[in-house]
Order: sequence, then structure tokens, then C-alpha cells
Amino acid sequence: MRNTRSTELIFELSKPGCSGAHLPPCDVPLRPVAELIPAEALASKPLPLPELGEPDIVRHFVNLSTLNMSVDTHFYPLGSCTMKYNPKRNERIAAMPGFANLHPYQSDDTIQGMLELLYRSQQMLAEISGLPAVSLQPAAGAQGEFAALLVAAAYFRDKGIKKSVVLIPDGAHGTNPASAVMSGFTTVPVKSTANGLIDLDDLKARLNDGVAVLMITNPNTLGIFETHIAEIAEMVHEVGGLVYLDGANMNAILGITRPGDFGADLMHFNPHKTFSGPHGGGGPGAGPIGVTEKLAPYLPSPIVVKDGGRYRLDYNRPKSIGRVRSFFGNTGVLVRMYSYIRTHGPDGLRRISENAVLNANYLLSRVKHFLPVPQGDRCMHEFVASATRIKADRDISAMDIAKRLLDYGFHAPTVYFPLIVKEAIMVEPTETESKATLDAFAETLERIVTETPEQLHDAPSSAPVSRPDEVRAARQPMLTWKPTAT
Ligand SMILES: *Cc1c(COP(=O)(O)O)cnc(C)c1O
Repeated sequence: MRNTRSTELIFELSKPGCSGAHLPPCDVPLRPVAELIPAEALASKPLPLPELGEPDIVRHFVNLSTLNMSVDTHFYPLGSCTMKYNPKRNERIAAMPGFANLHPYQSDDTIQGMLELLYRSQQMLAEISGLPAVSLQPAAGAQGEFAALLVAAAYFRDKGIKKSVVLIPDGAHGTNPASAVMSGFTTVPVKSTANGLIDLDDLKARLNDGVAVLMITNPNTLGIFETHIAEIAEMVHEVGGLVYLDGANMNAILGITRPGDFGADLMHFNPHKTFSGPHGGGGPGAGPIGVTEKLAPYLPSPIVVKDGGRYRLDYNRPKSIGRVRSFFGNTGVLVRMYSYIRTHGPDGLRRISENAVLNANYLLSRVKHFLPVPQGDRCMHEFVASATRIKADRDISAMDIAKRLLDYGFHAPTVYFPLIVKEAIMVEPTETESKATLDAFAETLERIVTETPEQLHDAPSSAPVSRPDEVRAARQPMLTWKPTAT
């Protein structure tokens, strides 16, 4: 289904002979092309480039840019993704020529400012996490998980300890088992209880000498804090295992509690979520990891170190797992993170989390009467509602609700994740939204669940594409346009 704004490709809009520029005939004698380029390298016919006037080109791209939703244009309650407002100040700072125009092959002497920023970033993340050693190298959350698990594997190998199992709760983000398998471990799931916490009896049954790592998300993907986290960490440590904390979403606990204090040995951060890096659409991210002192020697190299008053990249780390990415990290994202953390300061970070939790609980309290939230009355930074009852009673699914929200000018929440909640609708408002926005969202949701199934099954009607075949879109993506008439 298409709306009135054009989604035609620029090639399809092309009109032969149309041009955006009219140049006078060339009055400089030219050497024939054949003298400059070998015959076999010459094209036999002109490239099929689109031919359009300048206003048509401008309208085409500006209209395309308005077809999508973004944090700057719409409320974006995408659970687990922490789509908070990205302060423009961070963009200005990251674009400063002294940061933006550096080349990674410059010598340490010429990039002292950037190295100081990275060094301080390592220290700030260590302070925030309670884990003393930090590497900024991984380029995304998932790669941070992978790198940290390689660190764990290197540690056990170095100590001559044979362990091969990673335990993963059934509510975990899909990247957790993927990272564990990619780094050579086998995975074993751990059950959750009906109230959404780790089932301690099931955990006990799975724990043995073969367990290398428990990967845990806390607050978990249901937006609930694991109240037994200290006990869980102790149980894992008792069998010689390590506790990995998936810290992609630190938005509920900044300045309130620290993974290192509740027993985590390793973790990753998502600066593009918690620390306001713009993300989505596969854009750049970063996935710094923090570890305890005993795991520090195995971190990816280089690490930024301070010798006297100078900063340098330390490559001389014999036990390091080596590089996981070129150079020393996605510095554009890290500069934004640094700017964000320094702008807020310690008290400000705590306020961010308090407001994120307040906003999520306010929205939860408005929504749960018409959209049940199976795991409870209270949440941390997000909550997971379920459309199971509405689906049974009225044939309205989580997908119908999500799609219909687009018609009302709201980005859809995350749906069908975590897998342990049927017809899951995962809502994360973040601290940056006003009460008025949260009220408008709750009222819209309430209105949608009273609409008829027929109204919802065809939604959205305002988007250029209504209901794509999501499996085909993922498995057979068409990433290039092929001219049909040449
Ligand atoms: C987003 C997320 C990840 C993965 O982070 P990427 O930067 O997308 O690779 C891992 N775990 C959780 C809980 C997440 O929300």
C-alpha cells in the first residue's frame, strides 16, 4: 500500500533529456577520450543515470527523509533499545575538527587530547560499573559480549581450567546465546519463574564445574531487578564460574547500583543506548567492556594508559586477546558518550535513572488496566505488557497494536520480545519524555484496544509500506535496484 508521498526510486522518476544544469558548450580543445583511456576500459553506452531537474531531486530526497520516524520527530518507546533524545550539544562536540578530522595512523604525540578523552572515558565507565579495567574497542553491544566472552575463555585457558558452558536465562537478548556460541562455548538455558526472575532451583540444577559463565541482564528484559543477584553471583562463583552482565540498558541503575558491587565480573555497555548516542538503522555504536582486576590482562589491546603526564596506546599486553576491531574504538560515538556523561555529572546520571524509572512506572500504571502486564505492578526502566487476553477475546494481536500506533504518530514499541511473554509489547519511555507525551501515548493505546479488529488488521494506512513480509524482507533483502529497461 502506498501513500500520496512518492516512494518511487529516483531512477523511476527520471525523464530523458531533463537536467538540473545547463552549461555552455566547452570552448577548450580536448584530447579525444580514446587517447586517454584504453578502448577496453571504455563503456559502450552511457550510464543509465537518472535525469531530473534540481527541484525534483531536492523534493525526492527531502520527502524520503520524512517517511521514517525518528527520536527527533516522534515518541519512540522501543523497549530494550533506550531510544532517548540525543542532545545536539554532543553532536557539535563530536564534530569539532580536533576530534572529527583525526587520522588513526597519527602518532600518539599528535592526538594527546583524544587519548586523554578516551583515558578518562575508561575511568568514568570503571567508576559507573564498579569494574576497574575497561576496553573501549568493541564496536557494538553484541561485539562487546563476544569480546568479553573471549576474555573469559582466555582467562580459563591461561589458568589451565577446562570449562565450556555458558548459562543463559530464557528471557535473554538473542545476542547473548549468539555471542556465547561464536566464542566457542555451548549454551544451556536457565528458566525464569512466573514473576519474571531467575528460577534459583533451576540455576542450582545447572551449576557444576563445567560452567564458565552465567550471562545475566539486570534489570532483566522484563524491566525487573533480580532481587537475588548477590546470591546468584555467589552460586556461580562457588563453582569457579564468572558472572557476565549484559549492560546494554544501564538506564535504570546509573549512580544507584553498580554491576561490580553486585557480583559481576565482566560486562558491556551500550553508549548508543544509555549514553545517548544516536542509533537505529544499523548506525554506528560502541560496546566498551569492563572487567575485574584478574581479567584485565586479557582485555583487547590497545588500552589507553597514562605515563607521567602523557597518554599513549598500550599494545604491549602479552595476555591480551588482541584486537577485535581496527584501531582503538568507534571514537565518534565515544566522544558523544564522554560529552553526555560529563554534561550530567554523577548527580545528573543518578537523576537520569530516577526519572527513567519514574516515567516507566507512570506509564505502566496508566496502561496495565487495559493491557495486562503479567510480571507485575512495578518496573525499572521498561515494562512488558501482553496482548494475549485481547487476542483471545477480540482477535487483536501485539502486532496489530504496534502497527496501528504508527497511524497515530507513535513509533511502535518492541513486540514479541522477550520470548517468555506471549504477545509481548515492551515499552521503554526513557527519562527524556514529558508527562504530556506519556499521557498521549497511554490514551492512544487505550483507544486502539477498543477499535475493531478490521480497523487494526490493515494498519498502518498512513505509512508508505503497510505490512511487509518480514521473513522475506530479512531472508531475501533486495539491496540494489536493477534497471528493467536497458
Ligand atoms: C541492544 C542490546 C544488545 C546488543 O547491542 P547492539 O549494540 O545492538 O549489538 C544486547 N543486549 C541487550 C539487552 C540489548 O538491549
